[in-house]
Amino acid sequence: MDWIRYSDYEYEIDSEGSLYVKPKENASFSMYNPFNVANDLLIDFLKIGEAARVYFKNKDQAVYEELKRLVFLYAKKYGLLGLISASTYNYNVIGDEDVLLMKNNFIQQTERSIDVLTYMKLFTPFADKDDLSVMVYKNSVDLVKGEDSPKFYGKRPLVMDLIFSKFYAEKLDWIINFAGMLAEHFNQLLVYRASANYLTEHVTILADTFKANKIGFTINQLDKTTISWNFDSLKTTIEVIYAFAVTDENILLSRCEHCGDFYIALSNREKYCNPACRNRANVQKSRQRKSELEAQ
Ligand SMILES: [Zn+2]
Repeated sequence: MDWIRYSDYEYEIDSEGSLYVKPKENASFSMYNPFNVANDLLIDFLKIGEAARVYFKNKDQAVYEELKRLVFLYAKKYGLLGLISASTYNYNVIGDEDVLLMKNNFIQQTERSIDVLTYMKLFTPFADKDDLSVMVYKNSVDLVKGEDSPKFYGKRPLVMDLIFSKFYAEKLDWIINFAGMLAEHFNQLLVYRASANYLTEHVTILADTFKANKIGFTINQLDKTTISWNFDSLKTTIEVIYAFAVTDENILLSRCEHCGDFYIALSNREKYCNPACRNRANVQKSRQRKSELEAQ
């Protein structure tokens, strides 16, 4: 499944004072397959999540600015998350009367259902009628876009036409909320892994946080047999890549014991993200040993 990214993004504040990230007016789009860059996609996102965890604790303005920078770079590299689709039980969203929201959504909605036009406005606060409009015909619904972005003509849910539009925007806070949860999950996982010898039964970390309800796939055969995924959003894609990364014994998503960066380890015994960190950690250890000896 391909996802969309635009060549440039910008921040804009809506009438209620929320900060959104959205494609720049003159930006052009390109498509890519998230699974071809799965490791980077995940590790870059966990970096945002780690900064988010720090920000949730100290509300430091400098950390917030760093988050803005990281999310901007992430959007340029991989596009927006597609939360308009990932937060509902509805399949097409557009054309429905009401939207049924998932319980633990990251878009700060506490109601169970919301009128669809209000919901759409939440993700397109800067678009007017000429930019985007929903046309309701006798037997069908269509999304008309005043720009040139991919249209799927019913091959994919109608909401995809909206997500892939230049007028689709997401709040910085939503992205931070989801990234923070994922990093929190991984950190808890590392704590449990370290104490795995003491666990006597299954531990579920942050139960009910993953809501990847709308995953589809086909099994394809060419020179080898592959899974072709069908996702409703980049958010769901990140969740699934994460789930495989932490459970696949050949991937080993880890955290460097020296600098704290996330990386893919080659074996269980590897503790550092690169040789430089291993050297620095060893120097630190030998200095420590030396000063301990001198103190005796
Ligand atoms: Zn490191």
